[in-house]
Amino acid sequence: MQRQALLLGQLFNASVFEDISDVDYLQEKLDSVAQANTDLRTFDILVPQGDDFKVVASLEPGFIDRTTGDLNYVIAWHREEAVATLVSDIGRESGGDSERFWEIAMPLTNVQGEKEALLSIRMSLAVMDDLAKDTLTKSYIILSITVLIVILLLALNTRLFEHAILFRRLKEVDKMKDEFISIASHELRTPITTIKGFLSMSLEGDYGELSEGSKKGFKIMEASVNRLGHLVEDLLNVSRIEQNRLIVKKEPVDLKAVLDSLMLEFELRVKAKNLALKLSADKDLPQVWADEDKLKQVIINLLGNSIKYTKQGEIELIAKKTDEKLITITIKDSGIGMDASEREKLFEKFYRVQGEETRGIIGTGLGLWITKQLVELMGGTISVDSIKHVGSQFYFTIPIYNKETHKIEEKPQTEKRNQKTA
Ligand code: ADP
Repeated sequence: MQRQALLLGQLFNASVFEDISDVDYLQEKLDSVAQANTDLRTFDILVPQGDDFKVVASLEPGFIDRTTGDLNYVIAWHREEAVATLVSDIGRESGGDSERFWEIAMPLTNVQGEKEALLSIRMSLAVMDDLAKDTLTKSYIILSITVLIVILLLALNTRLFEHAILFRRLKEVDKMKDEFISIASHELRTPITTIKGFLSMSLEGDYGELSEGSKKGFKIMEASVNRLGHLVEDLLNVSRIEQNRLIVKKEPVDLKAVLDSLMLEFELRVKAKNLALKLSADKDLPQVWADEDKLKQVIINLLGNSIKYTKQGEIELIAKKTDEKLITITIKDSGIGMDASEREKLFEKFYRVQGEETRGIIGTGLGLWITKQLVELMGGTISVDSIKHVGSQFYFTIPIYNKETHKIEEKPQTEKRNQKTA
């Protein structure tokens, strides 16, 4: 702005130096220059008068004929060079705000290069200052937002950090819980087997004849120990599956033989409840690709449930080849059934339907979860259809043995049979 003001003064001088003594001409020129430069606040032409200077042309008509002994004018006049000063003023134009200007005083010369008058202009810095102020305000806003974002990020990070620690602790606790269940179940197994053994020997009269009252008591004890045994087996299975310790050894399995043996196994239990049990299997059932023990465990769990949750009617075990690669095994009953909301969480751990009809039926809520995991580990899927008070049918798929794609491996050396039997 300072350079622009100086240049303006020089250009003005160049355009008037031939008629520098013509005051009217100077006024006319000065007005037209001011019109083209909106940053110009004052524009005066002065001539020396004694030690002072008198205004002969001005943007403000009221200034004409005024005299001033401004020091800058005196310096500019005597040194014969332009003097530029930065001044700040409670401006006439800026509505009370302080306005900054470049004030230029420079002698005006005639054609011969002699100084004849003095030019004084004030070039406002308002546009620049407004721009700077605006930029500063925007910068403050951006800075505030940035600081806010940084604070938020820090807060979030601290939370994330806390969550990470919490998550790690939870994982540790979860691991400890799994280990505890695994150890406790193992440790419980031996005394349960011992108690069962002594109870059955006592009931068989190995320790002397029992009175009817004692027999009744021992039978109740036997039922309770059996329940405890099932719970421990279920917990052991859950912990094996969760810790990926369950070995599934797939091999070609004669499904028909498995189904026949299970029909025999369940005959007495079904009869005891006055139910009917039917097997409907395809004539030439192909071999399936499965772990025989696990496959039996799955069917035992589902048949066991059907018997548990059916008061009267029939239970049907169906085995059908549903496509080139799969056999679908269905366990259908005419039991208490379930509605949609009861079916929703059916395969979740510890879920049991709570209702009038299930009250008093003993269970852990682990059987179907274990069953689902086993089916999936053998490459199948399981689902259920059920209508309340009509019955349920659970069906799962199992791959058909294929010589080309299924490779027979060596038998694993260790893994005890763990079957849920009720
Ligand atoms: P539980 O040890 O309680 O039988 P499961 O995981 O085997 O545990 O079964 C979960 C719940 O699903 C049962 O408590 C029962 O309410 C319901 N259920 C399972 N099978 C049947 C069925 N065949 N008919 C009706 N309800 C069933």
